[in-house]
Parts: sequence; structure tokens; C-alpha cells
Amino acid sequence: MEKLTVIGGGLAGSEAAWQAAERGIKVDLFEMRPTNTTGAHRTNDLAELVCSNSLGSTLPDRASGILLTELQSLHSMLIQCAQETVLPAGHSLAVDRQQFSRIVTQKIESHPRINVIREEKHEFPRSPAIIASGPLTSPSLTNSIKNETGSDHLFFYDAISPSILADSIDHSIVYRGSRYGKGTTPEGDYINCPLNQTEYDHLVFDLVNAKRHQLRKFEVDIDIGVKAGHGSFFEGCLPIEVLAARNPKSLAFGPLRPVGLRDPRTNKRPHAVVQLRQEDQEATTFNMVGFQTNLLISEQKRVFQTIPGLQKAEFTRYGQMHRNTYIASPVLLNPSLMLKDRPGICFAGQIIGIEGYLGNVASGLLAGINAARLIHSDPLIELPQTTMLGALCHAICNTALEHFQPIKANLGIIQQPLDLDPRANKRQRSGLIAQISSNHLETFIEANELLYG
Ligand SMILES: Cc1cc2nc3c(=O)[nH]c(=O)nc-3n(C[C@H](O)[C@H](O)[C@H](O)COP(=O)(O)OP(=O)(O)OC[C@H]3O[C@@H](n4cnc5c(N)ncnc54)[C@H](O)[C@@H]3O)c2cc1C
Repeated sequence: MEKLTVIGGGLAGSEAAWQAAERGIKVDLFEMRPTNTTGAHRTNDLAELVCSNSLGSTLPDRASGILLTELQSLHSMLIQCAQETVLPAGHSLAVDRQQFSRIVTQKIESHPRINVIREEKHEFPRSPAIIASGPLTSPSLTNSIKNETGSDHLFFYDAISPSILADSIDHSIVYRGSRYGKGTTPEGDYINCPLNQTEYDHLVFDLVNAKRHQLRKFEVDIDIGVKAGHGSFFEGCLPIEVLAARNPKSLAFGPLRPVGLRDPRTNKRPHAVVQLRQEDQEATTFNMVGFQTNLLISEQKRVFQTIPGLQKAEFTRYGQMHRNTYIASPVLLNPSLMLKDRPGICFAGQIIGIEGYLGNVASGLLAGINAARLIHSDPLIELPQTTMLGALCHAICNTALEHFQPIKANLGIIQQPLDLDPRANKRQRSGLIAQISSNHLETFIEANELLYG
């Protein structure tokens, strides 16, 4: 029987290797640590949690709770380890991060069919293989992936835009409205900050000249894109200062375009408009649309407070940019997580554009199952879109490329039941969605004999 190569002993790769091995497949699991490191990982252990020690909410009707239930139903090894190392944290699944990774490492290293090879893989692997090398994939492998899949199909950075407390906005200057009045609320869905030509020119000047964060070593240790001076950003998610530097008019024709946004008080169209989008149901915070940025925090405060209406803005989150290597899943992948044009090569984890620890584990689990099925000549599976994992895989594969950005488990992507009572409140809806996801997964598991052992 063919051996499976798994690249990356992180969350996705460890789960994938385990799932395949439990289905009788011999696995070579390549992990480059400790010889090489990512710069974010601190230990030599497999499945290291690089930042927070929380895997998300355990409440069964929350997005991460639904995914957690699904992972338990599918016998995820990593979730079992999480439960063995759980810490008290209310409704969050928080773990002792060191114990967690240590237990995962012990289990993987002592599995009779898994061979852990502490070596960096430079080349694109031969089939059958799973690439789960994460958001900080080593530069040489990144180059190989780029060569195999096409340079247009690999992105390197994610940028986040700032959020502002609603109470700190000067409502005597800004106005509500949706472009061409096409909103879902009569007063308009956005808060609009109007700029005249002088204010706009100052903003562009400040953005271009403000001080930026230096990329950290692990973020520049990649010889693609950064040479161009501004890195290889996903075009739909360019930092505002990079866009401003391209051409003085690019913001006025881009995220600050005023068309369809007449100020009702003057009935005139401002020269440019900064739009703020509501972030929570209570409308306590608003996000600056298109203002993802890599400016220093002090510079963000200084520059953004020159925008009319935002002079006293209180920022609940500043913009930031971080390295995040991910492939163009809508073009390259099937919801089975196999490459469309090369069945036998799977991708899993953050590199496919699924965010969050649980999502990374879950995609590794599916990749492991499908790689084993491929080797056993069984049909590959795609999970129903009424399950959170199925919805995530369909979302990354079926989003239009120009709108593609990494996504986390959320209730918006899951297929809603047709007979959902429109009068049901949010809690009732999410409870029903969770129930249906669980029922559908159980039926699917049984019909496809998915469980090992
Ligand atoms: C700095 C940072 C902080 C984050 N914080 C959080 C957080 O708090 N909460 C959250 O939910 N998500 C967080 N994420 C996002 C994501 O959930 C984690 O990065 C998660 O670990 C991704 O899982 P993964 O299996 O895809 O990759 P990883 O867990 O990173 O695993 C990939 C593995 O591949 C190895 N590798 C890379 N290249 C090669 C190669 N060529 N050959 C062999 N091995 C290789 C790496 O050493 C690594 O062990 C964070 C991401 C980053 C970068």
C-alpha cells in the first residue's frame, strides 16, 4: 500500500496524520522544527498553540461549539488531547498549552504507522500527500507551491482595519446612508465621514508619509513579494497606505469613492467619503471600511483622527498586518480538500484559508480521512453544507476569487434550514442550526462508515 506524506506537524498536519494512520495508512510526517523554526513557534512539540490557549466557545449553539461537537463526533485525536488538558475557563475550551502539545507529540510519535521525520521539505510532494505547513510555511516550500500552483494563486499577508467606539464619533459631522440608498435600514447602513478636497489631500499625504511597522523576521523571511516594496498582498485587502501611495486619486476612486453617497444635509456629494460599517448588533463599534493598515498604532491614531467626525475617535482595535501564507482555494481546491487538477495532493489548515485553531484541526481531519480513502480506492467525501466543517470547505472553494479572504467558523456560512421559522430569535435559530448540523453529520458518518476502529 502507498505511503502518505504529510508536511507540517502543526494542528492540521498532526490530526491528518493520525486520521490516516488510524485507517491503516503508513504516514511520513515531516516537521521542520527544531532544525528550522517559523519564528512564532517556541517549542519542538507537534501541534503547538502559537498564541492563545483557547480553542473557542464550548456552547453548543455557537459557531465554534458546533464545530467542536462535529470534531468530537468524528473522533478527533487533538480534541481528545484538549479534553485531557482542559483548564477552567467558563464556556471556552482552554487548555494547558504545553501539556496539550506534549500529549499530541507522544501519541503521534508512538503510533506504529506514523514516522515523524524532523526535516524541512523543500519540494512540492509527490502524491499521495497532504500539505499542512501553516501560515508560516518555510520560504523554499512556499516557492515550490508557487511554482506548482501559479504565482497568482498564493497570498502572503492579511491586513485588518481599525474599529471605533460609536459613542466617540462626532455625529454632528458624519451622516448615515447606504450607497445609492440600497441598504437594509431606512436611515442607511453606514456612517459616512465626508471629506472635501483639502481634507482628502491631507489624508493621502499623511497616509503615505506616516511611520509603518517593521515586519518581524519571520514575516520578511520570504523572498517573494516583499522585494516589490509592499509585499504580496491580496489585491482585495491592500493596506490603505499602500493603495494611497500608488496614486493620489486611488482612494477617491477606491474605498473612499463618494458616488451614491450624497450628504442629505447639503444634498451634495462630498469629494471623498470614509465609510464606517457596524460591527455588532448593539451598534457599539464600527469598522473603518478599507482601512486595513500596517501603520504604527500612534500614527493610526494621529492620522485617522484627522478624518472629519473622527477627531475624538476611540479605537477598540487598531489595524494590523501579519504574514499569512494561503493558497487561492476557490481556484485550486475541491471541498474534499484535494487539488482540482492533481487528485492525490491535499491541502489543510490555515494554508487553505481556514482561520482558527478548531478550523485548522477540522480541515486536517477531513484531509486525513480523504487521503486514506484515496489510498484505499474509496470515493472521496465532501461534508454536507449544513455542517460547520462542510460549510467551511464549501465557503473557501466556492467564494469568488476577488472576495476570497481567510474565514473562521461562523453561523453565516452554514446552510440554513429551509423551514426555519422567520419569527425565531437569534438563539432559537442557532440552536436549530446546531441540532440539524449534528443530525446530518450523524447520518453522513453512518452512511459513509467514516469512523475508524
Ligand atoms: C503568530 C500567530 C498567532 C496566531 N494566534 C492564533 C490564536 O490565538 N487563535 C487562533 O485560533 N488562531 C491563531 N493563529 C492562526 C492559526 O490558527 C494557527 O496559526 C494554527 O496553528 C494554524 O494551524 P496549521 O496546522 O495550519 O499550521 P501550524 O500549526 O503553524 O503548523 C504548520 C507546521 O508546519 C511546519 N512547517 C512549515 N514549513 C515546513 C516545511 N517546509 N517542512 C516541514 N515542516 C514545515 C511548521 O514548523 C509548523 O509546525 C495564529 C497564527 C499566527 C501566525
